[in-house]
Amino acid sequence: MVCRLVLDSDPDGTPLRKTILGLFALLIASAVLAQNSTDRVITEALKPSSLETNLAHLTDQIGGRVPGTPAMKLAVQWGVNAFNAAGADTVHTEDFNLQASWAEGATEMQVTSPQQFKVRAVSIAWAPALAQQRHVRIVDVGEGTDDDFKKAGNVAGAMVLVHSEEMHKWDDLFAEYLKAPQVISRAVAAKTLAIAIQSTRPNDLLYRHTNSSDGEIDRMPQVLVAREDAARMARLLASGQKLQVDLSVPNHIGGSISASNVIAELRGSEKPDEFVVLGAHLDSWELGTGALDNGCNAALVVDALRAIQASGLRPRRTIRFILFSGEEEGLIGSHRYVTAHRSELDNAAAVVIFDAGIGKVTGFSLGGRKDIVDRVNALAAPLKQFDAATMTTDASTGSDHLDFLLEGVPTLVANQDEDNYLLNYHAMSDTLDKVDLSRLKRHVAEAAAITFAIADAS
Ligand SMILES: [Zn+2]
Repeated sequence: MVCRLVLDSDPDGTPLRKTILGLFALLIASAVLAQNSTDRVITEALKPSSLETNLAHLTDQIGGRVPGTPAMKLAVQWGVNAFNAAGADTVHTEDFNLQASWAEGATEMQVTSPQQFKVRAVSIAWAPALAQQRHVRIVDVGEGTDDDFKKAGNVAGAMVLVHSEEMHKWDDLFAEYLKAPQVISRAVAAKTLAIAIQSTRPNDLLYRHTNSSDGEIDRMPQVLVAREDAARMARLLASGQKLQVDLSVPNHIGGSISASNVIAELRGSEKPDEFVVLGAHLDSWELGTGALDNGCNAALVVDALRAIQASGLRPRRTIRFILFSGEEEGLIGSHRYVTAHRSELDNAAAVVIFDAGIGKVTGFSLGGRKDIVDRVNALAAPLKQFDAATMTTDASTGSDHLDFLLEGVPTLVANQDEDNYLLNYHAMSDTLDKVDLSRLKRHVAEAAAITFAIADAS
């Protein structure tokens, strides 16, 4: 675009060499201008802001945020208010339905024979309820493989105990998710009553997630059992004792519920119909207060808008700042958003997603798109000062970028170190005290810078 303008406006037949030199000067000048603009956004991002108070409100005051609950409604209002206070041009919500509501009741589990002891357990989310059961046989099925179930023999009517490895790395987390559906299928085929899954975290830490994929109620009652309690039951069973448990999982399950994505915009100066999305999910599980997953990054999205607006700069393209809901139930909010906006996705320059707590950002995963590496590397140059400009071309599936990726929109998912994310993942301990606020501030600068750079690229 720059080339054609220069050559067209050369009525005096300036020698080619001079034109090319002028062209280089223009290119360098425009690169410097772009870098200066992004640096201004970074400077604004690093200034004091309401980032911390916004996050404290979302986590300490509102708390865990499951769609269909009063807390989730308050969180949506929080998003609307925070975006307005940050200086958005427009803010609105877009509603969609989840096929069922789900809330845990007073889950209880205790070994009744031959010894008696309480087992610390919570229901897996979106698992069906189970009325009070007494003297249920419990059977160890190891890792829950086909062989393990064969070795266990007849487990009809029993509760099966499934072991887990302790989680330390991202790969361990993905393995946990991948393993569950097969174990459930085997348990259903074997006509078991329920599944007890050993927590992957030590020190009695309980957490919650779902093993269903689209907000549907799962096929079988499942509880997550404290790692130490599961190990104790496994040792007793291995010693030849025949354990029985009393079990009650009175989950509250209802019909379809409405949920909302929150969308704020800064309109582009030259190409307002083209847009970049900066997004994070607003919903969370509720045993903790959803600070690492993903409150800190919801607050980051709001503060990135604030920083770009405060810079006084307007990028060429529109930026949509989106707080998705229903992510934890199967990326439902972003799926519905992509479905509703499919006709304009050709105008989507990129989608930037943050969803891994406070671990240091090293760069971005580009969703398998080797064709965009050079372009993104150039735009991400200002992030080198934070050591956050290393791109990878893997494609992950676990967050709100997925449906955009499947539609062919370039996606940038922040690659982050594990840090304290996995230990506290979906757990009672995912609370505000786990968030390193100075690092979150840097991440705001990185998110605002890369989003602005893409939105402003010529
Ligand atoms: Zn998340």
